[in-house]
Amino acid sequence: MSGFDYDLFVIGGGSGGVRAARVAAGEAGAKVALAEEDRYGGTCVIRGCVPKKLMVFASEYAGVVEDAQAYGWQLAQGPFDWTSFRTRLNAELDRLEKVYRSLLKGSGVETFDARATIAGPHAVKLSTGEEKTAKHILVATGGHPVRPDLPNAHLGIVSDDIFHLDALPKSLLIIGGGYIACEFAGIMNGLGVEVTQYYRGAQILRGFDDEARGLVAESMRESGIDLHVGTNIMEMAPAGADHALSHAGTGSDAAMGATAQDRQVRDSRDAPQTAAGGPVWVKSTNGAERVFDKVLFATGRDPNTAGMGLEEVGVSLGRRGQIVVDGYSQTAVPSIYAIGDVTDRVNLTPVAIREGMAFVETVFKGNPTKVDHELIPSAVFTQPELGTVGLSEEAAREKEEIEVYCTSFRPMQTAFAGRSDRALMKLIVSKASRKVLGCHIVAPGAGEMIQLAGIAVKMGATKEDFDRTVAVHPTMSEEIVTMRSPMRTG
Ligand code: NDP
Repeated sequence: MSGFDYDLFVIGGGSGGVRAARVAAGEAGAKVALAEEDRYGGTCVIRGCVPKKLMVFASEYAGVVEDAQAYGWQLAQGPFDWTSFRTRLNAELDRLEKVYRSLLKGSGVETFDARATIAGPHAVKLSTGEEKTAKHILVATGGHPVRPDLPNAHLGIVSDDIFHLDALPKSLLIIGGGYIACEFAGIMNGLGVEVTQYYRGAQILRGFDDEARGLVAESMRESGIDLHVGTNIMEMAPAGADHALSHAGTGSDAAMGATAQDRQVRDSRDAPQTAAGGPVWVKSTNGAERVFDKVLFATGRDPNTAGMGLEEVGVSLGRRGQIVVDGYSQTAVPSIYAIGDVTDRVNLTPVAIREGMAFVETVFKGNPTKVDHELIPSAVFTQPELGTVGLSEEAAREKEEIEVYCTSFRPMQTAFAGRSDRALMKLIVSKASRKVLGCHIVAPGAGEMIQLAGIAVKMGATKEDFDRTVAVHPTMSEEIVTMRSPMRTG
């Protein structure tokens, strides 16, 4: 060591930061410290992927009794008990947080339950007042959900708040059409909440394959989600007594033509505030006015860089406040690196972990390693799920001539139970190289399927490699190796 307190100081105890700290200490023998101001585990474990997925599971039991009855089981439908689920959920998150803490301890990482900010290229200041020095600093502070710039936006909740609700709302308006909006629409709908979703664009899940987005949107509507595209929230206000009178009707037949007095109440930022997330009156761009028990803003996430002292020491920030890094996750200050959502590259847990591992290889193992951000498989946990890897049909066509292999069918399991659910399997193939450029699956379990299909695509498999693979019968995923003729070319 060279006169510093530590070889590495990690700021942020989420998936990326914890992995980098553990590996640097445990495998590379570095002296490592980590500071976390909130709970260990970060967004993924505490307020993201993990509790979300458990809620997806909870919501999917909604149809189980009905389906089981179709299969001959004599079962009775009962209500969903949010309180009992939330208690178990919290216990599970407590358990996971302990696991994270003990992993750090077991690797010899010193932890500080404090906020850390950058005090110099080699110095961090802790909220306890202490200052620590380190040869390298790794910023892994993640991001946070943002509300749109709209008067009274504080009345809406964000995804972090969902897991702490005292009770499920009767009605919920979700704003946004990205991962979080669509996943929570499915979850809440499954749990029995009346869900309305507004997305400002023409189709939800921008950037994903058009056909896949279309089927997800159609399935969401069929399952009872009142999805409006080309629609956004325009005004919101506490649903006070005045509103209850003038906007008593809810739904698309909501009262129109609010009085000047109503408008004054709505427009005032000083209006008496119901607790964030209380009943909210909303006017939308399509003219509808309605009261919702809750409004959820799923309108994107911003990097956690405010007040970190980053720019003061010379670290460059991008337009959205993200830390600008090179391929090795190094910032403009050579001793400071950054990984995960705070860099706003590909905001997914496994990517942050990869970035953390590559950082340790580069800095502590003498093996400069760039993070590979190509062909990352991912899944949106809508119902049905959307699994995707590689290029959408639209993006691929912009690059080269392609063949599109596609099939849509009713899965055996749900068809037998009398459901009209459809699944979609799609391969985008390069005409020149025959390589599979993209694979898109909309089906129950698509997240599991795309992980495996992703290996083949990452290896550069051709359509003929898929064809050579014998089908596993009877499964849904066998369709991915049995599509014979292209549906479209060009
Ligand atoms: P996204 O960026 O995916 O979506 C934000 C949505 O909000 C978009 O539909 C966007 O519309 C809309 N929006 C943005 N600003 C406004 C506004 N002012 N008014 C109305 N609508 C607005 O963000 P999410 O919050 O859904 O998720 C953040 C990231 O977290 C994801 O990109 C993903 O990387 C990660 N994530 C991954 C998951 C997974 O892997 N399953 C699950 C959850 C999150 P437009 O399209 O027009 O810009």
